[in-house]
Amino acid sequence: MCGIIGYIGDRKACDVIVDGLKRLEYRGYDSVGVVTDNDGKLYIKKGAGKISELEVKLNLSELPGNRGIGHTRWATHGVPDDTNAHPHTDCTGKIAVVHNGIIENYLELKEELIKKGHRFKSDTDTEVIAHLIEEELKTERDFEKALRNALNKLKGSFALGIIYSEDKEHLYFVRHESPLILGIGNGEMFAASDIPAFLPYTNKAVFIDDGEYVILSKEDYKVKDFRTGAIKEKEVHVIKWSLEMAEKQGYPHFMLKEIYEQPRAVKDAIYGNAEFIDEVAKEISGYDKIFIVAMGTSYHAGIVGKYLFQRLAKKVPIVEEASEFRYEAEEVIDKNTLVIAITQSGETADTLAAIRLAKKRGAKTLSIVNVVGSMATRISDLVLYTHAGPEIGVAATKTYTTQLTVLTMLAIALARHLRTTDEKYLNTLEEELYKLPELLNEALKHADGLKALAKKLKEKRDFFYIGRGISVATALEGALKLKEISYIHAEGLSAGELKHGPLALIEEGVPVVAIAPSGKTFDKIVSNVEEAKARKGFIISLGDNEELMKISDVFLRMPEVDELLSPIIYVVPLQIFAYHLAVIRGNDPDKPRNLAKSVTVE
Ligand code: GLU
Repeated sequence: MCGIIGYIGDRKACDVIVDGLKRLEYRGYDSVGVVTDNDGKLYIKKGAGKISELEVKLNLSELPGNRGIGHTRWATHGVPDDTNAHPHTDCTGKIAVVHNGIIENYLELKEELIKKGHRFKSDTDTEVIAHLIEEELKTERDFEKALRNALNKLKGSFALGIIYSEDKEHLYFVRHESPLILGIGNGEMFAASDIPAFLPYTNKAVFIDDGEYVILSKEDYKVKDFRTGAIKEKEVHVIKWSLEMAEKQGYPHFMLKEIYEQPRAVKDAIYGNAEFIDEVAKEISGYDKIFIVAMGTSYHAGIVGKYLFQRLAKKVPIVEEASEFRYEAEEVIDKNTLVIAITQSGETADTLAAIRLAKKRGAKTLSIVNVVGSMATRISDLVLYTHAGPEIGVAATKTYTTQLTVLTMLAIALARHLRTTDEKYLNTLEEELYKLPELLNEALKHADGLKALAKKLKEKRDFFYIGRGISVATALEGALKLKEISYIHAEGLSAGELKHGPLALIEEGVPVVAIAPSGKTFDKIVSNVEEAKARKGFIISLGDNEELMKISDVFLRMPEVDELLSPIIYVVPLQIFAYHLAVIRGNDPDKPRNLAKSVTVE
């Protein structure tokens, strides 16, 4: 989600750190901060904005000393502004911390620390870490032990860089469910979220594992377990990647890297929202006139949202493209209306216009957004974040599955509040939701088969994606992915529609992709597949029922999952398939022609 970096050696630390941050910027870019130490005194410069601007504005090259840490932020807690930028310090100003990840129990810790007299400056979750170490130092004078005590109280994901002004020889780093790698130099050491940050200086790397912390000095590094304090033996790897490859962590494209990040992203979406979702559900529970507005992939998430709201909360939202809603809905919006806006960037022009219109008419607005502090979050009454981390590939992948995760959580919370669905069923659904990261990993295993399939079908001119019920959205999204990056014509539709027209286009060899999880409409979609097969279509089906295999040319066995959660899993093979078709046809999937990441014009 963000980038951290640390340096200790003989060079001017700020130069190495600023240089490294520029190469970590793809991980997050809303704020920047650097702290260095010069002879036992910490110097901090930080602010909201991009590194290239802040380097000049804050005069980062003025920072003295040969030891320091830096951060490029992608906000999760607290808007991106100068105060919330990292590093964060304790009350004494002797401990500074940079953090990548989310501290799940920060509210609880913050309350306790405030009671003990600590003064907080920012709205971030990160700041508790500095104060917690300060608090532990009151009873444990050994810094390393105090640090360990503090770490064992943290819940969530964190890669940390820590500098303590009284310990002039070391820097400290920690890893728990957020990446951290050491760069081993000659008389100098580096630590960073990712290899490109230090690759110009050294290609020797040590990969830190979860639950480990590092004591870094100029000449040496020690890695220990933060639960037990035991020393860990680590292997030094020689990196053979180019800088550009390293930025993508070895993946040839950002899109593929982001597809593979989905288990982690969905997990962050779950844990990042667990605390707030009930409150939001309660606030919106009184509305019966509901619109879900969005564009593109987010619009497909909205369609899934409609099915979830219907099935679980017995509410019937109208899902509309924001570009239509903003011109057509004015007369019917009033203070009894709830408008849920879904936008990855929080800057989509049509969606912003829809939110503004809703506000003008006195409606309640809730935005589901990935970019913290973006315009949509500032103008909406309520906000839920998807916590997917920055998405660089133009075709949305992990932001879609995290939007679906948040909508599912919201529908469950709403159903619970309104008592519209059996509590036992809601509990089972929730348990399954927590297993999604594992199931996503299983779905990713189809990658090789999908690559071979893409090779086989690369000359096809039309694809049809069909689904029923909640899977209609998956069909639409699968088709959109294909169009966007492979430039092949594709249509997504509800399978029931097939007979009403599109079936006329199915002839020998035309690929028909059927999204068919077990559930309410499974038998119906089997009949639709038969219809397409009878016209000699080439049937690719995704499901968990053997019956489907018998009538398909290609069958992708999907993990068994409740139908309501299936959109989160079933879209993954469709993303991978579109990706490979794009690459095989010589397109750059990260930068499809004619398209931009966020559509800030109408
Ligand atoms: N949760 C921290 C924040 O919002 C760190 C986010 C990040 O990983 O960039 O400041």
